[in-house]
Amino acid sequence: MSDSTRTLKVFQQGFNYSQDGRGNRLVLHLQGCNMHCPWCSNPEGMPTRGALMTEKEWLTESSCPKGAVRNGLLDRSLCENCADIPCTGLRQKGIRLSCKDYPVEELADRCARSAPMFFDGGGVTLTGGEISLQFDAVRELLILLGERGIHRAIETNGSHPHLGELIPLVDQWIMDIKHYDDETHRKWTGVSNRQVLENLAIVAARHRDVLLRIPLIPGFNSAPEDAEGFAKVLEPHIRGKMIPVELLSYHEFGKIKWAQCGKPYTMPPEKISPETVAHFERVLNGHGITCIHT
Ligand code: SF4
Repeated sequence: MSDSTRTLKVFQQGFNYSQDGRGNRLVLHLQGCNMHCPWCSNPEGMPTRGALMTEKEWLTESSCPKGAVRNGLLDRSLCENCADIPCTGLRQKGIRLSCKDYPVEELADRCARSAPMFFDGGGVTLTGGEISLQFDAVRELLILLGERGIHRAIETNGSHPHLGELIPLVDQWIMDIKHYDDETHRKWTGVSNRQVLENLAIVAARHRDVLLRIPLIPGFNSAPEDAEGFAKVLEPHIRGKMIPVELLSYHEFGKIKWAQCGKPYTMPPEKISPETVAHFERVLNGHGITCIHT
């Protein structure tokens, strides 16, 4: 038994099959991210305290007790200094906070009640946002899930300096490698890739079940020469090991949520072609790296 009083901010949860770890999985999306990738499909998961999301059809002056809604628009500059955010306590559909706080033990018990769904080797996946922004509570949840015999996967952007401490608590480790070049990584995500590559070396050496992911993004990392750039960075760590690389093609599924969060969506309307994916696969294979795509 844990006597923890810690809570986790969760902005989305639900089952999926084999998308974020093997088998049937309960996927918990944890609030907060230290990167600000403009292609993110879950922008509401970025702010650590949660994002105010609006529904245009339901947004009226009565949605905000402090008068921040006028002519069907929310003046978010007024929200910045609004400490008690009373709008989120109203029964309404116009404005909501992206996340809720859950006691860690309650989450672990809820996951345990879902155990019959994991009959095919599935389990629980913690993803984000970025899980490591709630590091202590995540560590505690992983311990509690382990005590309950539940398979644990995490999906991380790899940037936390103490990420390696979680290795013994995780059964499947999924990590993004967004760009091989530090300057480009920093320019687009706001964060250096140095710690990511250090964590890649640690995890590749010490964890037996790792999946790497490259999100292929137009204008960022999907030019033909980028395939060789990724291969050179990845090869020393994963050649000869059972560490596959999953190529994920950019999509616009999150676009509507950028608008609901009051943020502009700046990605161009381009797609990743099957030829681009095939080229990356060919180049990575040539360096002894196995690719999968879903
Ligand atoms: S946070 Fe909510 S209550 Fe506060 S100003 Fe914004 S809409 Fe109004």
